[in-house]
Amino acid sequence: FKINMDEIEVLGELGKGNYGSVHKVLHRPLNIEMAMKEIRLELDESKLNGIIMELDILHRAVAPEIVEFFGAFTIESCVYYCMEYMNAGSLDTLTGDAHLRVPEDVLRRITAAMIRGLKFLKDELQIMHRDVKPTNVLINKKGEVKLCDFGVSGQLEKSLAKTNIGCQSYMAPERIKSETANQNPTYTVSSDVWSVGLSIVELAKGCYPYPPETYSNVFAQLQAIVNGAAPTLPKGYSDDANDFVAKCLEKDPNRRPTYAQLLEHPFLLADKDAEVDMVGWVAAALERRAARGISSLNPIQA
Ligand code: ADP
Repeated sequence: FKINMDEIEVLGELGKGNYGSVHKVLHRPLNIEMAMKEIRLELDESKLNGIIMELDILHRAVAPEIVEFFGAFTIESCVYYCMEYMNAGSLDTLTGDAHLRVPEDVLRRITAAMIRGLKFLKDELQIMHRDVKPTNVLINKKGEVKLCDFGVSGQLEKSLAKTNIGCQSYMAPERIKSETANQNPTYTVSSDVWSVGLSIVELAKGCYPYPPETYSNVFAQLQAIVNGAAPTLPKGYSDDANDFVAKCLEKDPNRRPTYAQLLEHPFLLADKDAEVDMVGWVAAALERRAARGISSLNPIQA
């Protein structure tokens, strides 16, 4: 089916990204709540239509670890992208609490979902994600973990790419090297493996592993990613977890494991028959987030 704006009722704002905002909407004919992302682009109509056509392959991206795609349309110079509403939001908003460690079994389940999702994209759709980071990993109150925002449209990537080197880079060293040297990007699917490793460390630590305040500028920070020691998990995680992260964060992309190998790693094998209370963890994390939200709405007067 095709979605258009007339069928949509905007219910509220979910968040703002680099290129536009995300709203919670109701698709009236189907009576389904969706998340609608608005991407503002300065492109002519034929290019915008090209993007809509390229996004069409998302209808084939149906897997338990991938946020469902409902359709996309354009109005003026905006692309509107409708997807499954994930009612607990992105992982960065649920963690980010340095005092409360993500338990290893939860971290493991999240990691397993990410790897299965990425393997699906690669094997079934022949695409790499290109933008793996905690904001692009969504979760719902059922405890399901799903990936969104992957690089499916070449035209869309090209239009967005320019502003991509920010103060929180999840790019692999080889990708930073080729982008800062302005060469053609030479990275491959193993660059996504690096980004998974960095995301896991961020979830465990509660903050981005190369804290901006440590570096005098973005260049120094990127330099540290390329030449410095790879980040590690905070204390308290198992040897298997540490080994898994170290393998993802190998500087040499050829030494990083494939998705199949990662799924066979003892860290993820232990997830298979484990009973993990994801529902309870999400509920508790949502409560903490709400408490943080309230305190930011009601600042304590000095
Ligand atoms: P970015 O550009 O930083 O990746 P996005 O524009 O993709 O951010 O999303 C902004 C915020 O909107 C996210 O951090 C997330 O909290 C929320 N969001 C995005 N997609 C969904 C969704 N499908 N369901 C619920 N919340 C979402």
